[in-house]
This record gives sequence, C-alpha cells and structure tokens, in this order.
Amino acid sequence: MASKMINLTIDNNKVQVPEGTTVLKAAKSIGVNVPNLCFHEDLSIYGACRLCVVEIEKHPRLEPSCATLAEEGMVVKTNSTRVRKARRMIVELLLANHPEDCLTCDRNQICELRKIAHDLGIRKLRFEKGRKYDYALDESSPSIVRDPNKCIQCGRCIRVCSEVQAVGAIDFVDRGGRTQVLTFLNKGLDNVECTNCGQCILVCPTGALREKTAVDDVWAAIDDPKKFVVVQTAPAVRAAIGEDFGMPAGSLVTGKMTSSLRRLGFDKIFDTQFAADLTIMEEGHELIGRVTNKGVLPMITSCSPGWIKYVEHFFPECLAHISSCKSPQQMFGAVAKTYYADKIGIKPEDMYVVSIMPCTAKKFEAERPEMNDSGVIDVDAVLTTREAARMIQEAGIDFTNMPDEDFDKPLGISTGAATIFGASGGVMEAALRTAYEVITSKTLEKVEFEQVRGMDGLKTATVDVDGLELKVAVANGLANAKVLLEQIAKGESPYHFIEIMACPGGCLGGGGQPIPTNLEIRKKRAAALYREDEGMPIRKSHENPAITAIYEEFLEKPLGEKSHHLLHTSYTKRERY
Ligand code: SF4
Ligand code: SF4
Ligand code: SF4
Repeated sequence: MASKMINLTIDNNKVQVPEGTTVLKAAKSIGVNVPNLCFHEDLSIYGACRLCVVEIEKHPRLEPSCATLAEEGMVVKTNSTRVRKARRMIVELLLANHPEDCLTCDRNQICELRKIAHDLGIRKLRFEKGRKYDYALDESSPSIVRDPNKCIQCGRCIRVCSEVQAVGAIDFVDRGGRTQVLTFLNKGLDNVECTNCGQCILVCPTGALREKTAVDDVWAAIDDPKKFVVVQTAPAVRAAIGEDFGMPAGSLVTGKMTSSLRRLGFDKIFDTQFAADLTIMEEGHELIGRVTNKGVLPMITSCSPGWIKYVEHFFPECLAHISSCKSPQQMFGAVAKTYYADKIGIKPEDMYVVSIMPCTAKKFEAERPEMNDSGVIDVDAVLTTREAARMIQEAGIDFTNMPDEDFDKPLGISTGAATIFGASGGVMEAALRTAYEVITSKTLEKVEFEQVRGMDGLKTATVDVDGLELKVAVANGLANAKVLLEQIAKGESPYHFIEIMACPGGCLGGGGQPIPTNLEIRKKRAAALYREDEGMPIRKSHENPAITAIYEEFLEKPLGEKSHHLLHTSYTKRERY
C-alpha cells in the first residue's frame, strides 16, 4: 500500500514526503544537510546532542529535526538566526570540553566535530576549558584504542555495539559532567565481550576511537635487511582503498594497490584471495563430509574473527557447528612460512608476513596463541585498509596515477570465487560453486547464486545440488547472526550451511575500511567485487592452478594430515561479564 504523503514547507520550499519521515530527512530531500552529531542513519534515534535543532512555526522551543516527524502544513526554518545561534552555542560548549589536538589527531582530515565547528564559522574558543584531559586511554585491546578525552558522548558507539552487533560491550556510566563511555567495571575492551569488530570506530564522529596501529612495526620490518617481507591483501581492500585517495566509492583499484605496495618496499605482493580459494577447498570438503557422514549441522563459516569471538562469548554451546578452517588470513600466513618459504629457501623466522585487511578483528586473530602452526607466529602484523592508505600517503605515492600491476606468483594467483569473499554471501557462493562440481562431477554452467547476494542482514535459500536440497543461510551483522544461533541452540535450525560475517554487508563494511562507510557505499563496494569476479578468467576455487599445485607439491589432499596441522584450528569458550 502506498504511504500517505505529507506536505510541509522547509526554508520557503514546498516539500512532500511519505508519512513517518523526520524533518531531518525531509530537509535532506531538498538538499539541506542539517548538521548533526548523535544521529546516524544505521542507528536508532537518540536526540541528545541537539545540534540538528530547527525552528518550527507555532512550536515555542527549537526542536531536534532527527527526532521530529514531518506533519501536514508544518513550516520549518533550518537556518534562522535563532537556529544558528543555538547550534554555535552547542558546538562551542562541546569544544570547551575537548582537547585541542587536531594537528596530531588520527581523524583530523575526516573528523565530523572539526568539520562542523569549521562550517559553523567558529573561529575562537569563547568558553574557558571545562575539564582536564587526563582520562587514561584504553589500550587493552589488540585492535582498538579508546581515547575518552575526545569523546563527545554522542552514544553512536554504544548503539552500534548493542543494536547492530548485539554485543553491548560499552555503555554510559555516571551522570552529568562526569558521564563517560566505559566497559563493564572499566575493565578495558580486551577484558569484556568486545569482538574487536571496529564498527564503533566507523560510526564515531571524532578521534575517540581508532585502530591500534601497526604502521611503525611494518616500516621497521621493511627497513630490516634480514627480513623478507611479504604482504597479502584481502578482497574487500581493493574495492575501498581508492576512497582514501579521493576516488569515488566502488572504484576497483586492484592494480594501483599492487603497484603502490611494491613501491613501499614489500618483497612480494601476494593475495589473501589465494588463501580464500584454499579455504573453499578445505571448507567445501568439510561440509561434504558433514552432510554425507551425518556430522554436526548446520556447519558455519569461520572466516570472520569478530564473529568467532562473539560465538565464543555468547553461544559456546554452538562451537561444534563452526568449521574448523582457519580464516584465509591465517591460512595464508601458515603456508607462506612453510610451503613458500621452503620453495625460496628462507627460514620461517626470517619471513615477515603483513596482512592488509578491512577488519580490526584480524589484529586480534593474528595474536591468538594457536596461530603459530608454521613454528613461528603465522602473521606478524595486520594493517587496516586505512593504515595501508596512510603508509602510501606517507611515502608520497601518487596512488590515483599509479600503473596497474599484477600480484606476484604463486600466492597471488586467485579466482573470482575468492574475490567475492569480500561481500556478504560471497563465501557461500564460492563454496556452492565448488561443492556442486565436487558432489555431482558435473560442470556448473551458471556460477552466480543471486539468492545469497545483497545487503539484507539475513538471507536464506534452498539450492538443488543434483537432487540434494541444500538449505543455506547468510547473516551479516552480529544481531542477525544471533537470530540463527538462537535457532541452533534450540535445535530448530533447518539449515545445512550458514555463512556469518560480523560486519554489515560483510568484510567490505569492516571496521578497518575507509570512513565514511554507510549502506550506499557498501553497495558500491559490493558491486565492484562482483564486477571483478565477472571479469576473471577462472571463477571456481578448485580450478585455481596454484591451488592444484600446492596440493600436489605440499598439502597432498584437502583435510589431509598437513592441512589439519596448518589450516585448521579450534575455538575457546570465553567469559560473559
Ligand atoms: S577529534 Fe576532531 S576535533 Fe577532536 S582533536 Fe581530533 S580532529 Fe580535532
Ligand atoms: S569493537 Fe565491536 S564489539 Fe567492540 S565495542 Fe566496538 S562495536 Fe562493540
Ligand atoms: S566514543 Fe565516539 S561514538 Fe562513542 S560516544 Fe564518544 S564520540 Fe560518540
């Protein structure tokens, strides 16, 4: 049924919007961006910062436009003297409680607070500083640093953590001027249920949240003549890193990324997609084994370390459902320091493996004590997409004008199936492409499984594999994963195979991706990955010649003894707080 339309006037313009539209959104529909800080389009309305106030005829007070619905005949002014004065006052008060660190702040180019202060014409600090900036940083996490001194208490991080991720690792504590965002008993993010997903970083409007950087460690390794430094790049990075150089969202920059990394001084530029193909070989055979031998079903993917930590804390009774496969990042580290190191005559301890990931939780994953099956730590340092872009900027590389170059061989050879790992539903689709052909020994003519694509948080499908009806589900965002886990915990899950990614949209919406990341941008990054898949000569993981070679020369067979040792892992029940 078509929604009822509402007619109102905003800044002397006649506007028509569907019933239920906020004044903020109605203003946006005519090209007026009302400034705001606590509002975020992916989150519930909070209405606390009051920065988005507007004047509404017959309303005695200024009203927050994010929390006020458009009404028939409403007359709104978004830019009156009264409104501008109120907005300035709000920002001036925020600045009176804020350190003047812009020159050295991680966010200085993209800080929403700094931009709003600039746009509102605030050129001097009118009020005396109201508080000392001596809150201790929370640096307990291997992935995330919290700086309470730069927090403006907008509550976005709290809402994303509880509403989108169903975690609730942080909340407001205390009242009035003493209010802070804290973890349970101020134990630090590493000592509570935080999954290290980094979604809080993406929504934070200031520099109060950032990744724990590995940039200096990576420079030191590159400069160390004794180290052979290889880098792997996750699929979602090539569809996003261009944004940090001013390119439009959805720009596919695989070749520019590769040439830029070569200029930085890495010895070999490899691709996590090689390991994604390897994951499909191992995980696909694990699934076939579970289905044919009445093993634990549904089987759930294990690529997303934020998701793994979530299930370890919240649903330990479901751990047997998770594939024992390590993530592609960790498979890559393990084979780089054994198979490849041996091929080129280098000791594992002289090789330094760097990952470039869309994900902050990958930093945590690389530090898990079980991730050292090569005899040394499998992955030495993890950079987010943002950190990799910063290194390229620091080196003065003209990214947008770099030539396209290829990955090095053999760990840079991959397929279209591996490319789509970066989008929600991609691992499922890649697994189905291989499982179909392994189970039926027939060629799969149409490789696209449209049913599992797209940005919906929860997708389900029944796939006919030559008479076997495989029921599958795909979830992105941990609140959606929770729905599937509750079914499993009650013994009511109808599925054989489930893909779960911790972040909205999958890895392309990861907590280490360029800021801003929102629904429109996620869609464009996904389209870029599907474009790359379509253009690749090989689109099924089991047809990757480098994968065939590694099994012939080294691993012998999927789920074989060497695979079990290097490519598989186990999980740990963790506390609730
Ligand atoms: S958070 Fe923004 S306003 Fe605050 S110091 Fe950093 S750049 Fe400046
Ligand atoms: S990293 Fe994720 S789980 Fe941890 S506090 Fe941030 S949003 Fe919550
Ligand atoms: S940490 Fe960032 S997102 Fe969270 S309340 Fe503070 S300013 Fe807002």
